Amino acid sequence: MTRTPIIAANWKMHNDLAESVALIEALRQRLAAGRAEVVLCPPFIALADAAEQLRGSGIALGAQNMHWADKGAYTGEISPRMLKSLVRFVIVGHSERRQHFGETDETVHHKVRAAIQHGLTPILCVGENLPQYEAGQSAAVVDAQVRAALREVSAQAAATLVIAYEPVWAIGTGKAASGAGANAIIGLTIRGALSDLFGEHVAQSVRVQYGGSVTPSNITEFMQQPDIDGALVGGASLKVDDFVAIVAAARK
Ligand code: PEP
Repeated sequence: MTRTPIIAANWKMHNDLAESVALIEALRQRLAAGRAEVVLCPPFIALADAAEQLRGSGIALGAQNMHWADKGAYTGEISPRMLKSLVRFVIVGHSERRQHFGETDETVHHKVRAAIQHGLTPILCVGENLPQYEAGQSAAVVDAQVRAALREVSAQAAATLVIAYEPVWAIGTGKAASGAGANAIIGLTIRGALSDLFGEHVAQSVRVQYGGSVTPSNITEFMQQPDIDGALVGGASLKVDDFVAIVAAARK
């Protein structure tokens, strides 16, 4: 099955409005439409401007997080109903949210279902932390995260998901996983769980990214793996030349 590669940029809490607008403008000029889909996930404050800037560019927009409720007394939160006129994608369950903001498999599950209900595509993040990796528990942890997040999701909806395998020990550390190691978790564990839950056709349709210290120098190693369909890029996505080079490599 051919899956269109997808490269997503997670700018985290790094740039203010002016910096976001400038970065989007630079990327819009340098990233012509091409084989790999590109998704930019700026901070919330830049989404409305970004939606205008990216109109007609072929570059998609994503949010970094959302609540699962449509509306309510949840001070400081953003709902899928608010996001859906602006973005097509939403990152759900990033390890920084699990680590610093108390997100659990249960809240991630609610968010995945709410995103789907509102026609947003979740970029569902899963991945083991360092002690789990060192204890040889990577496959078990990732398998459990995928199954918990996708409970009560239909096969039809599951087929449209994007999943990002992001070993926590590789995020922002400069220590990327190996291509073969990431491919094994993605091919055997993630597609294995998808096949078990939804059947082999869905397992082969879902696009699965690798994330964790992706750079222009290692992106090709990941893109050459048969089960890896792209990358979720943090630090390197804040540098125009690096991100353009990563997208170019993914399009080869
Ligand atoms: C991320 O933010 O999801 C990420 C993978 O960050 P980095 O590329 O900086 O490791």
